[in-house]
Formats: sequence, structure tokens, C-alpha cells
Amino acid sequence: MRGEVISIGDELTSGQRLDTNSQWLSTHLADLGIQVMYHTTVGDDLQANIQVMQTAINRADLIVITGGLGPTDDDLTRQAIAEATGKELVLDEASLEHIELRFSARGRTMPEKNKIQAYFPASSQVIPNPNGTAPGIDMRVSRTDGTTSRLFALPGVPIEMKEMWQQTVHSVIQSMEGVESSVIKHYCLKCFGVGESHLEAMVPDLIKRGRKPSVGITVHQATITLRITAQGIDEQACLDQMQSTIQEIHDSLGELVYGTEEDELQDVVIKLLLEQNGSLSVHEADTGGLLSLCLTEADTAKNVFRGASILPTEDQAEQMAKQTREQFDTDYAIAIGPLYQTGIDENAEYQYAVATREKTMVESSRLAGHPEIHRPRAVKQALNLLRKVLLDSQK
Ligand code: AMP
Ligand code: MG
Repeated sequence: MRGEVISIGDELTSGQRLDTNSQWLSTHLADLGIQVMYHTTVGDDLQANIQVMQTAINRADLIVITGGLGPTDDDLTRQAIAEATGKELVLDEASLEHIELRFSARGRTMPEKNKIQAYFPASSQVIPNPNGTAPGIDMRVSRTDGTTSRLFALPGVPIEMKEMWQQTVHSVIQSMEGVESSVIKHYCLKCFGVGESHLEAMVPDLIKRGRKPSVGITVHQATITLRITAQGIDEQACLDQMQSTIQEIHDSLGELVYGTEEDELQDVVIKLLLEQNGSLSVHEADTGGLLSLCLTEADTAKNVFRGASILPTEDQAEQMAKQTREQFDTDYAIAIGPLYQTGIDENAEYQYAVATREKTMVESSRLAGHPEIHRPRAVKQALNLLRKVLLDSQK
């Protein structure tokens, strides 16, 4: 079953407000086993709304619309649905009563404008809204070829939309014909140490379209995420389906895989240090405390991270790692040398080092990518070097 989410509002298309409803709805539709193929965002314009809805009805089996159900002139969703489906808007007495009651409960009379919220396209169902005046719309729409699409329209206010989803829409979808009781689950493996295309070449068959379970690849600040997606009757069934893929990734990538789900490199490094009761200090020449901040946040028990020097020195990373480890008397020290010796020069190299009580390891790298990721990338490289040292010490 193909899903589409439509968000309506000028505040969304103009960039004034972020469309968070689509994200929320897509993750909740996935929990019902429905794959969302389209997110459509459209402004408050009747013709544009009609067009978007007709397109959606023809390409999606299940459509969830949010926004535009208010009482004002820029709220056009009910009219657009009526016109897109060729239905009349009909007054629903029970909804009118509910809206009037909401006003009278606060000692006010309902403004004439709000009456429009009690009108529904003929043959649609009302979705009650316990927290607002705008009820939702649930409608079966016939396509020209005789098949049908199911359309739900909910208010844009996130809290009202979510409540109506939980109270009504979720169970209605669950009981729909063609919705098998299934969930779509994702599982992420986090990798660091090579570029995206290099990593993809190491697992060529996994990223292929149409593979089940599917594997997607995304990069954020040099961290590569492999996202495995499976569909099954429950979460365990999805995980079972993923096992051989997870194993295959570990076999192909080895230590490039550092963690899962929300893990960051600092979380893994702190965990490894805790396991061996080790302590850590750092020196940062040009990363302004970024490494220290990552470690402070990850070392929640305050057992591992013992100190830092954050100084814009020109000293070599190797020497600073040794010196810092001695200064703070820790088992390990990380040093990140200066990144920018003569301004930003893409060919410039910088160094990072890890000192143990026995030896010091140094690596160097080029200032690649957008300047915004230079510092986070250097921090990750240094953390990754320590991770490799810690893994080696376990062997
Ligand atoms: P509406 O139902 O169109 O009157 O929207 C009411 C309010 O809900 C808007 O002013 C926005 O602040 C918020 N809203 C509408 N659509 C969205 C959306 N897709 N994501 C997040 N907030 C939204
Ligand atoms: Mg609106």
C-alpha cells in the first residue's frame, strides 16, 4: 500500500515554519506497515490544492492531509477535497453542535465563520477533534479505473493532529482492507573511516534497489549510516529478517562499523575506556573544545575524561599527546594539532595523535570538504584513532 502525506499552508511553503507533521505521520504510518512514497507541501491556494489532491488520489492508496481545516478564508482543505472528488459539501448537525458547544462552554457564541467547519464532503465520515473546533475528514475516493483511495484530513495544529491520529485514524487504518498487520522497522549501523563511495564499493550488493531488507546509505559530517529497513508482523520479525544483512555488513566492513542506532564515536570510546577502567585527557589546538564537549556529554558518569588543554598552539600533535597524558596523568591522551596554519588550504595536512603509557600513534589527514565540517571531522578522526587503539589492546 502506497502512502502520501500532504501538508497545507503558506507558512510551510514560504519557509516560515518547518513541516514537522509529515515526519511524524510518516514514522507512524511505517508502524502500520505503510510505505510513504510522497511528501507534498502546498500553499493556501484552492486550485493548487485541488491539483495536488487529484494527483495524490491517482497515485496513492492512502493519503493523510494536514492543515487548512480552520474557519478562515485561507483554510481551503474541505473545499479542495469536495472539488477534487466532485462531491457537495453537506452540513453535519452533530459537528455543528460540537463546535457551538465548545464556544458556549467558554461563555461565547459561535462566530458565523466557524459554521464552515461543520460542512463535510458528501459520503465522508467525521473524525472527532477533542481539542479543537475543526473535525477531520475520512473519505473513500473512487478512481476512474474503479479502484479506491482512502483520504484522511486532519488539522495542522500538531497536538490536535496527533491526538486525532491516536484516538481514531490509527485504528481505522489498521482495520482497512489491504493493510496487513505489519510494521516497517529501521536499524542503523554507524561507520567511520572511509568515504561514502569507497564504503559503498565494499558492500556493492547490499545497496541495490529492490533488495529485501533494503539498505540505504547516508552521510553526516563524515559519519556514514547504513539504514536497514524491513517489514514484518512485528518488531522481532523485522529484526530476524535483518540478521543476515547485519552479519554481512560486519563481515565486509569489520572495524569500520563502530556502533548502532544513535551511537556516536565518543559514546563508543567512553564505553571501551570504562570497560578497561581507563582515563583520558585531550589537547585541542584548533577545535575550540569540540572534542572536550563531545567527551563531557558522553562521559555521563564522569569516570573517564579527566582534563583538557584547549590552546591555539602550533605544536605537533605527537608531542602534545605525550605531554598532555603526563600532565593529567591519564592512561590515554588525544591531541589534535592545528588545522589551519596558513588559512584554509584544501591541500594542507593536519595531524592527530593518541598517546598511551607505552607509545604514541600519529595520523594525518587533509582538510577536505566544506569548512563547516573540518572541525567535527578532525574530532571524529581523533576519536576513531583512539577507538582503534583500544580495540587493538583488547586483542
Ligand atoms: P491550520 O490547520 O492550517 O490552521 O494550521 C494551524 C497551525 O498548525 C499553523 O499555524 C501551524 O503553526 C501549524 N501547522 C500546520 N501545518 C503544520 C505542519 N505540517 N507541521 C507543523 N506545524 C503545522
Ligand atoms: Mg493554515
